[in-house]
Amino acid sequence: MKLSLPEDVQLLSTTRSFLERGTQKLLIAGEWVEALDGLTFPTYNPATGEPLAEVALAGEADVDRAVQAARSAFEAGSWSRLSGEERGSLLWKLSDLLEDHADELAELETLDNGKPLRVTRHGDLPQAVKHLRYYAGLAGKIEGKTIPVSFSNQFVYTLREPMGVVGLIIPWNFPLLMAIWKLAPALAAGNTTILKPAEETPLSALRLGELIQQVGFPEGVVNILTGPGLPTGAAIVSHMGVDKVAFTGSTEVGRQIMKNAALSNLKRVSLELGGKSPNVIFADADLPKAIKGANWAVFSTAGQECVAGSRLFIERPVYDQVLEGLAAEAQRIRVGNGFTPKIHIGPLVSENQLHRVLGYIENGKKSGAQIIAGGERLGDDLAAGYFLSPTIFTHQDDNLPLVQEEIFGPVVAVSAFEDWQELVGRANQTSYGLAAGVWTLDIRKAHRFAQAVRAGTVWINGYGLFDPAAPFGGYKESGFGREMGQEALELYTQTKTVWVGL
Ligand code: NAP
Ligand code: MG
Repeated sequence: MKLSLPEDVQLLSTTRSFLERGTQKLLIAGEWVEALDGLTFPTYNPATGEPLAEVALAGEADVDRAVQAARSAFEAGSWSRLSGEERGSLLWKLSDLLEDHADELAELETLDNGKPLRVTRHGDLPQAVKHLRYYAGLAGKIEGKTIPVSFSNQFVYTLREPMGVVGLIIPWNFPLLMAIWKLAPALAAGNTTILKPAEETPLSALRLGELIQQVGFPEGVVNILTGPGLPTGAAIVSHMGVDKVAFTGSTEVGRQIMKNAALSNLKRVSLELGGKSPNVIFADADLPKAIKGANWAVFSTAGQECVAGSRLFIERPVYDQVLEGLAAEAQRIRVGNGFTPKIHIGPLVSENQLHRVLGYIENGKKSGAQIIAGGERLGDDLAAGYFLSPTIFTHQDDNLPLVQEEIFGPVVAVSAFEDWQELVGRANQTSYGLAAGVWTLDIRKAHRFAQAVRAGTVWINGYGLFDPAAPFGGYKESGFGREMGQEALELYTQTKTVWVGL
């Protein structure tokens, strides 16, 4: 394995030995096994284009093995019938192990996904730890209700029981964090699980699997299958033995998943999908803060965030001033290999993704939008990777693909607005509804906007904040079901009503 790193950078010996052990295997029923048909696929470092590891490609038969393992574990009750407190204590132990191995997991994440080490180490990893602890605490607090009914001789209560075997299918932009967003509540509620990371970024999930074993979760409670959407993801979704699928990814694949869930066993589905989030700067905002905030809202993670504030609306009187500030900020962003110190953003995750985004930029230029900053693939020492400069377009036409479609790259579409009615109409002129931002010092206007915008999360004078206690999810074609908070437990439990004749 050839691994080009920036000068003076040394990987931890644990990271190296993980990468040097040869083909990475699947975790099924507590064992690391090869795919039954022996297939593998490579995963790449997007900063250099170099392959990092060969990974087992799970086929339908492997999915079947994993479902059986998860089913046996569920039926055996070695997890679902533990007390919530006992499940919580294992989740907490896992959070401690994650903390102990944070440096190594952050390195793997940066190698596989490309984002800066500073971000994986001080953003993704502590967030994952916090999520595990939040749900470790909630595991023993999943309560039913007593229900007063119209019969005086009946006592009625509800239980919230786990779904059973749940499939967890996640994207590549926050590989470890997305795994934990789903595993933590699913496990807290007593389900057994099959996790499929994205084919671009399987490594941190595999290392997580080893830590899960080390903690001592009963075998079959967490199974990890690597492989692409087809066949691996699709086989999980169509399997008759899977009770629920929780998915994060594109709206297009979300549609397929709903359809295939319906055509198999009507398994439960929750979907966290794409977005094209409006971010609004009013003339009475704290402009320096708003400019920095709007910049980071779309360019952090190189725009590869479902909540990216990719449609920026600026109130006319401050339009020129804000635009100038934005362009200056964008030019200050340092793009580079995630291991280079002081880098702000890394590469796009794959060559495919780079060309998709470049396609939108070319199309934007041709369609009459004006490019104010960026728009180019970066060369020189970054030429082998998939690096793009932060790109700002201004436009007068909300119907452009640039303005309507999720680009998932460092590209923002900026326009001016004149009045409230126009703003609200245009902000909501999208099939998505994941998030929105608004910058103003007028608190009444801020709340009015929060009420008027059709989105699952609204940030006022800030952007992109997450916490395990705060529910997150979409309106409209951005999906349904809420991750995080107590609401996430609803995705992984079902209600049983018990009637007791007195
Ligand atoms: P994607 O293509 O939809 O893939 C997401 C996951 O689904 C991957 O693991 C993928 O496998 C798998 N998959 C693909 N086709 C499948 C099928 N037919 N059946 C079952 N699984 C299938 O999305 P992506 O390109 O990885 O990620 C970018 C998208 O995710 C963006 O649209 C973004 O907005 C969305 N996203 C949403 C959120 C949110 O919380 N709402 C968060 C992050 C990302 P492979 O990729 O391995 O083939
Ligand atoms: Mg994909």
